[in-house]
Amino acid sequence: MITFEGVTKRYGDGTVAVDNLSLQVPTGAITVFVGPSGCGKTTSLRMINRMIDATSGRILLDDQDVRHIDPPTLRRGIGYVIQQAGLFPHRKIVDNVATVPYLLGWDKKKARARAMELLERVGLDTKLAGRYPFQLSGGQQQRVGVARALAADPPVLLMDEPFSAVDPVVRTSLQDELLRLQSDLHKTIVFVTHDIDEAIKLGDTVAVLRVGGHLAQIAAPSTLLAE
Ligand code: ADP
Ligand code: ADP
Repeated sequence: MITFEGVTKRYGDGTVAVDNLSLQVPTGAITVFVGPSGCGKTTSLRMINRMIDATSGRILLDDQDVRHIDPPTLRRGIGYVIQQAGLFPHRKIVDNVATVPYLLGWDKKKARARAMELLERVGLDTKLAGRYPFQLSGGQQQRVGVARALAADPPVLLMDEPFSAVDPVVRTSLQDELLRLQSDLHKTIVFVTHDIDEAIKLGDTVAVLRVGGHLAQIAAPSTLLAE
């Protein structure tokens, strides 16, 4: 469980990106943060893995204040997927996915076997494993991004508009793949999107944010109030 307790983020220029946000992200389910551009979704996400620290309030990860966990330790348990996949351009696909296992000192053969297993799992043709990122389509790169985030089997996954940059057909297939994976893996997922349809499709819980960083409502998709 991830708990936001009265979390506020004010940037150096005075912008209040997140305003007194309190909510709970249940373990083993997908919680979607949805809202228009600039409502504080990315800021909220990045406070969980401490790429950004809150100005006030606190975020608890299983009852522990994330500010009491050093960032490298924290991030070993938190996979992170961004819009443009963020793959290392000079590393082969298999080595991109195995990056974290390598860092953790896994045996190279074991790390690569794990990478291949994950690539298969996210629906990527494993024949592409020896290629470089620029040789893959945007949708394929996103699959690799998801595989990489899962490599060390973190209990938590943060996903920041991971499917927004691909065309609608590919986006649908990536969404379906994520739901399939999740029915098996039961990760604690925070998924950020500006697309309400995507939020309703993927979220077990949907948190609707408004510009100014306010929480408008949080509910199961079926009970979201129309606005
Ligand atoms: P979203 O992800 O919903 O688009 P962000 O969290 O990126 O929203 O941004 C929330 C608000 O904070 C916006 O007004 C944005 O311009 C502002 N903001 C984001 N990063 C910074 C920064 N480093 N310095 C100042 N303002 C920022
Ligand atoms: P991303 O797509 O990774 O969320 P953005 O395009 O929102 O990044 O922002 C790019 C960079 O500019 C980030 O470092 C963000 O913190 C910063 N930034 C965003 N909005 C503002 C703002 N209003 N003032 C200052 N910096 C900002």
